[in-house]
This record gives sequence, C-alpha cells and structure tokens, in this order.
Amino acid sequence: MAELLVTGGTVVTLDARRRIIRDGAVAVRDGRIVEVGKAAAIEPRYPGVERLSAAGHIVLPGFIDVHHHATQGLAKGIADDCTFWQWCYERIFPYDAALTEEDVYWSALFVGLELLRSGITCFADPGGPHPEAVARAVAEVGLRSVISLHTWDRSPAGRPLPESVRSAGVDGAVAATRRLMDAWDGKADGRIRVSCAVRTLTNASPELIRAMLALARERDTIVQVHTAVNDDHNRWVKEETGLTPINYLASLGVLTDRWLFAHCARISDEEVALVARHGAKVAHCAGSSFHSAYGSVAHGKIPQLIEAGVTVALGCDAVASNNRIDMFQEMYLVAGGQKDTHRIGTVFPAEQALEMATLRGAEAILSADELGSLELGKRADLVLVDARSPSMVPLHEFSLVPNLVYCASKRDVTSVVVDGRIVMQDRAFPHLDEARIRDEAQAHGAQLMARLKLPVASRWSWE
Ligand SMILES: [Zn+2]
Repeated sequence: MAELLVTGGTVVTLDARRRIIRDGAVAVRDGRIVEVGKAAAIEPRYPGVERLSAAGHIVLPGFIDVHHHATQGLAKGIADDCTFWQWCYERIFPYDAALTEEDVYWSALFVGLELLRSGITCFADPGGPHPEAVARAVAEVGLRSVISLHTWDRSPAGRPLPESVRSAGVDGAVAATRRLMDAWDGKADGRIRVSCAVRTLTNASPELIRAMLALARERDTIVQVHTAVNDDHNRWVKEETGLTPINYLASLGVLTDRWLFAHCARISDEEVALVARHGAKVAHCAGSSFHSAYGSVAHGKIPQLIEAGVTVALGCDAVASNNRIDMFQEMYLVAGGQKDTHRIGTVFPAEQALEMATLRGAEAILSADELGSLELGKRADLVLVDARSPSMVPLHEFSLVPNLVYCASKRDVTSVVVDGRIVMQDRAFPHLDEARIRDEAQAHGAQLMARLKLPVASRWSWE
C-alpha cells in the first residue's frame, strides 16, 4: 500500500466550497486522495508514512493542459514569425513527416519535463506521428495524458500533405487508432488514456470525421480536433464545404459532447450556440494565438462561450506555436487578454482563470470525477508553489489566488506529485536523467534540421 502525506502547506482545494486550508495536509493512498484537511488533525493518523513537506508552499491541484503536442518538442524556433500557410506546409507538416520514433520519444521526454516544471500533471495530446513513443515517454516521466494518433485523409486544393503523414484512408486511420488503444489505453497504472483525433478539419473527409466519432463513442473517449483555428483555416474549410467549421460539423450531424475543439478562435454567435447546445468543449490557447496570430484572444468569443455554458479550458499547444510551456502564463493571458479586449477590469477574475486550468481541464477530457481538485477520492495529482518566492511576496489571504495568476510563473513550482508519486522534488527529477534528456533533445533537433533543410535562416549575421 503506497502512502504519501503532503503536509504543512496552504491547500487550495478547488472543491465545491473552494476551501483554502491554512496549515493543511493531503493524505494519499494508492494514488488517490484519502483525506484533505488540517495537518494537525491528519498527521497523527499517518505515522511512518512518507512525507512531502509543503511548509512555506501553496498546494494546488495539478494543472491540466488540454492541448499540447508532445511531438513538437524538437520544433522550437522553426516556425516563428511566419504565416499560417508557412507554419503548416513549409515548417510543421514537413517536420512531422521527418520525425522518427526515436525523435518523438526524446521530444516527448523533453516536453514532459517542461510540463512538470510548469505544474502540469496531465495533458491532452491532439496527436502527431508515432504516438506510441509519446506513450513510452509519458510512462517514464510519470505524467498523466490523453494521447492520440493524428488522422487526416485529404488536402485542401493545391495543398497536398506529405505522403508519409497522411492516414491510409479512413479504415487505415481507424485500425491504427484501435491498435494504439489496444496497446496503451489504461496503461502506466491508468495514467495513459487514448482518445481519437482528427488532426485538423482542413484535412479531414466527412467519412473520417464520422468514423472517429463512432470509435470515440465505442471506446467512451473524446475526439480532439483543430478547428476554427483562424481566418485562413475557416477560409479553407469554407472553400471545400461551403460552410464555416462548426456549421459544417453541424451539417454532418456529428456535434456531440465528445469533441474537444482546439482553438475555436473564429466562430459566429450561431456557432457559439451550437457548441453549447451539443456540449462540445473548447481548448483556449491564448499564448499560441499571441505567437501565431490566430485571433483567439481579441476575437475568440471566449466570454460568450462560457456564458452559453461551454467548458473552456486552457492549452499551451506546443513549443512550435506558443512557444512557452507555462500554465501560469496561460492563466495570466486569459484573465488579462479578456480584460484588455473588453476594457473591463472586473471580467475574468483570477479565480476563474485558476478554475480553467484545473476543474475545466478535467471536464474537457471527461475526467471531472477523477481530476481537477483536491478532494476525497480523486487521483492525487498536486503541485507545490513556493509562497516565499519574490513573485508571491507580500501575500495576503485575499491575494493568494490573484498572486498565483498575476504574479507567479513556472519557476515558482518546486515539487509535483502525479498519482500519488513524487515526480519532481525541489525542482529535480529523482527518476530521470534531466541533463541527458536535454542533450538528446538538442542533438535530435539538430539532426532534424540537417535532414529537413527548411527555408529558415538567421535574420542577423553571425560571426
Ligand atoms: Zn495544436
């Protein structure tokens, strides 16, 4: 029986009453939370149990990043300051096509460490090549993840996909996803789940969309898809189908609560109502929008979606499109971005941003019963944030959550527990060779650049 007592910190529970417990403790048995309360009451009941001191720290539920490409960890810097067309077809699709299984493995290990450093304990991966290598890395790093295989079976006119990433038809895409599910769903003590994924609506036939939804229903999971990413994306969908993305999905009769729409940046009021009526979820990727000019923040109808009852959670997306992995930044950007857009200082208070990074994330991956808060019976995924960091001081009762959203950064995360296991302690990874993972990421990234010969060059001269 594996037990752990996280004790002595200020526990931000995110439970139904939104309790914050001073001098609190969280007791864990076999990966689940068995008690949350005052340390003085809980500690005596767990003599001899492994302890993780949270003195001087804030204990939070682990963040849930609902849109993150673990395969793109070696693509940092290859798709900056470019158009969407260049991003897809000149940079990232060729990168995807060139990835070996080993590249993906080291990419996912490297991304995994960055996710943990940011306090992210669970991420939804919308798919790339070699997802089995992502699964291996997730298992080793100790994260929780909803992984997937990207599927795509057609191209907009004049924009062919690299042959090596294209799915082998609808049947091939379904068979490959089934194989991934059979091999990895529920593995690593249940930390790995496998979902369906349609890479992007611009590259999917109606048959593929229907087949992936049918498989998701059969296996009781979600379908991750990039949709309404930006104006270019919408224009391509409209050229092919005559409709904007959400209206197009509605016309196919496939809108359900199993969709996790990545970005959903450019949608109409009518489409907001459709997303809400069918219970689909949205991954808002504000940092990615800032980097890649999607319009999600200023034009994304995020308040309207939430007002209509849609679950909107947060995604860091990738180091090739954000390029930062920092959930504190995403919370800052959603709270600040909406304030700036609407020029109203009271919209999106800090507490709402923290809920989006935790509770809403759990809802988006259909895991609200298991994740998202520190409560009896939930999986023990939690994060320690240094309350004595210069970012957080001075700290008052009323400013604890605002300081987390407006002042803290990933550098303030010191320890991380996933499924009751300490995976990062005092900023070190006890089970992993951090330096080797960094060096392999650099080496594999350099090898990829040599193979790819992308149209990228320094704009300033080197000597
Ligand atoms: Zn994405």
